[in-house]
Amino acid sequence: MSDLDLMRELLRAWDSMKVEAVTSVLHKIRDRVTAPQYRICTWTYEHRDDFYSTTCQHAFVLNDGTPHSNNMVICCYCGGNLVERHLTEAGRLHMMKDAQ
Ligand SMILES: [Zn+2]
Repeated sequence: MSDLDLMRELLRAWDSMKVEAVTSVLHKIRDRVTAPQYRICTWTYEHRDDFYSTTCQHAFVLNDGTPHSNNMVICCYCGGNLVERHLTEAGRLHMMKDAQ
């Protein structure tokens, strides 16, 4: 079922004025938006100790390169989309979205 089909089903349920029908569709939407492919897991590089900390509360060490330069696009712990976050030398935040 596409997102558009799901919205149509919600509108039909809403028009029917049946709480059970609306609740059922809302549960489907909740399940969809919380699915791993829609979640983001941010991996923050910790310069001092040379590892990445993840928003899903794990730590990961790479021998060489970055997660994206090693073709890692999904968090191996939670299945969310992997977004890298690095701090520059000046301590400013630097987000890396795409593999290079
Ligand atoms: Zn994760």
